[in-house]
Amino acid sequence: MGELIIESYGKINLTLDILHKRKDGYHEINSVMQRIDLKDTLAFKEIDKGIIIESNNPQVPKDSTNLVYKAWEKLKQISGIDRGIHVKIDKRIPVAAGLAGGSSNGAATLQAINQLWNLKLSDIELMKIGKDLGADIPFCIMGGTALAQGIGEKLIKLKPFTGKHILLCNPGIEISTAYAYSKVQLGEERLDVDKLISCIEREDLHCVAENLGNKMETPIIQEYPIIDKIKSTMIESGALGALMSGSGPTVFGIYDDEEKLLFTKDKLKDISKIIIPCKTI
Ligand code: ATP
Repeated sequence: MGELIIESYGKINLTLDILHKRKDGYHEINSVMQRIDLKDTLAFKEIDKGIIIESNNPQVPKDSTNLVYKAWEKLKQISGIDRGIHVKIDKRIPVAAGLAGGSSNGAATLQAINQLWNLKLSDIELMKIGKDLGADIPFCIMGGTALAQGIGEKLIKLKPFTGKHILLCNPGIEISTAYAYSKVQLGEERLDVDKLISCIEREDLHCVAENLGNKMETPIIQEYPIIDKIKSTMIESGALGALMSGSGPTVFGIYDDEEKLLFTKDKLKDISKIIIPCKTI
């Protein structure tokens, strides 16, 4: 029995506005999400019973808290099929980094099991199932560029913002999503998400870079000034714009020129060990 290989891509938030907290504890957002080509590779093999999760990264949980586990359990419950799975996660997306690494692995698992068990579920059905496991899972199934509303599950596809040079820099701190949300001050002031969308529609890279925004960034920078240091190093070295992605701490810079990106990579070496060039896809 061979392996089924699924690539599991990360995301950045070009803009992330947080509107309010719902009674169930989730936050309503207005965000433009963008897939990047930084990816984990997941290898799936059928086994008789249970689930075995392996990874090259010790930070990845191997138990029922892993979104891979949750996705398998959910599809078992929905389909009534009780078969086991062995999953090997080759992790490249930094963990708890604001890049949706866990959600993306959960999405990949829904897609893999759909194939292995011949469930014939559509992407729309998988997105509905995924939303109960994690708010970013529907986007990880859809990919591309999208406006995410609700808790992230209401998605509107946008004009693709592909092939842009992005530099990721992670200061090596883990920030949980729940912690980052707890630090946000919910005010009346809104980010201009429509403006950012119009920049994407006009394919105006400078305009996109000037209209990046993340409501979680200021409170997280107050605690971790290194994030601001990374941002300013990127801007001083030629990035058109730089922002913390999602709940952080990863910062991404947008470039119109690969040489400036490589120049920044060199400048950041003294600040952080985790520096990853990638592209939007
Ligand atoms: P998001 O941007 O969706 O909020 P994130 O990129 O900040 O997520 P993840 O890498 O998804 O963060 O990890 C958050 C937590 O999820 C980790 O601390 C880890 O314990 C847990 N987790 C569950 N499944 C996975 C997985 N497959 N890979 C990595 N972390 C996982």
